[in-house]
Amino acid sequence: MIRLDFYKNKRVGVLGLGKTGKSAVDALKFSGAEVSVYDDKLDNDIESVKKLDALVVSPGIHLQWPHKHPIVDIAQRCAIPVLSDLDLFLQHVNRKNICITGTNGKSTTTALIGHIFEAVGETSVGGNIGCPILSLPENSEYYVFELSSYQLEASNILGLDTAILLNITPDHLTRHGGMTGYITAKQKIFMNFSEKSHAIIGVDDSHCEKIYEFLKGIGCPDVISISGNIVPQGGIGWENDKLIDDRFGQREVICEKIESFSGNHNYQNIAAAYAACVANGVSKEAFLSRLHTFKGLTHRQELIAEINRVKYVNDSKATNADSVEQALKRFDNVIWILGGRPKEDGIESLIKYFKKIRFAYLIGEAAEAWSKLLTANGVANEISGTLDKAVLASSKKAEELGADIVLLSPACASFDQFKDFEERGDKFRQFVMNLKS
Ligand code: ADP
Repeated sequence: MIRLDFYKNKRVGVLGLGKTGKSAVDALKFSGAEVSVYDDKLDNDIESVKKLDALVVSPGIHLQWPHKHPIVDIAQRCAIPVLSDLDLFLQHVNRKNICITGTNGKSTTTALIGHIFEAVGETSVGGNIGCPILSLPENSEYYVFELSSYQLEASNILGLDTAILLNITPDHLTRHGGMTGYITAKQKIFMNFSEKSHAIIGVDDSHCEKIYEFLKGIGCPDVISISGNIVPQGGIGWENDKLIDDRFGQREVICEKIESFSGNHNYQNIAAAYAACVANGVSKEAFLSRLHTFKGLTHRQELIAEINRVKYVNDSKATNADSVEQALKRFDNVIWILGGRPKEDGIESLIKYFKKIRFAYLIGEAAEAWSKLLTANGVANEISGTLDKAVLASSKKAEELGADIVLLSPACASFDQFKDFEERGDKFRQFVMNLKS
């Protein structure tokens, strides 16, 4: 647990008692702070807010859209600092941090960087993945954090050592009041940069490209452009399935593609990890040896089983169209299971891949609307309603049509039918295993 000495004997409020909020309560109490907790499920003592020395907000708390949380409003009116758990960490821990954000690829890149840095020094990995920041062990040499747009929105100190922005495509728009609010939250990762900070930016989308140009324009000392599609001039990227470092104009080949960890999206993640290594003095040899032992994460284009030559792929973490696109780019001759609680961006951007779909099975709240959209675009489909029925029907249809892949890549949040994407993916695995037996 991280010790927060500055808050000893101070009155600190924690708003929102999810995983992150609870870890803040524990760390603050452990450090001798006088902690008050606030949560929409509690009968909150509003008057006590005015006496706080600081208010720590959890990522789930609405700071602006669709409305400011009333407790945040009171704190701000009383000039009480409103901080995130990351802010508290940065106030107290002077070790190297490497922080990753982006619409897609955050967890994969965070896990990969953590895996590489573990070989170099004691490394703790957490934030939006695994353990909350304040519950991590003290005194690690490196801290690798996955940061969501919510966490960044709530953070005000920042000044990170190495900040990685992978990509930006529409997501969480209601929560951020639209695309501008979402981009503003994401680019906060570069806020309060110091002379020693490193900025690593994927330039494969126009939003990130603009942020890259902006940081270069204001003379940010170390800005590295990375790409999963090309080799950006003076940056790090891919060409002909080779990772190339062009930072010094010499186009040094770093490595070739790894079959089990391929696709342009993973190329982007690998380029970001390599850039984090060079920014922190990690050798090319260490990077390469650890890259080759990285196992990847479950629920991301994860091959579950091959039954009667049909491959079953669990991509439950693909909760938006852009992440599904990575799977549809990669696979052909697909039976597609999709649906759940739809997001604002829909699936219209995937129409160009519909020719790869032999049949689709729909589940969850999105089913009816998306069934109509698929039919209108020539994709045969059926509403299954639930995942167990979809898996069973998919296996029969795959054999009937000679399809190669049954792909769960929902393009939706899972909360209408599951606790989270992990439960959805685990159920998929279980239903596929039932087919086997
Ligand atoms: P996040 O933590 O940002 O949600 P993950 O690494 O968990 O990202 O991957 C989520 C989904 O996005 C998976 O379906 C994965 O295949 C896809 N994905 C992974 N990396 C990228 C990337 N760089 N760009 C686009 N999609 C990606």
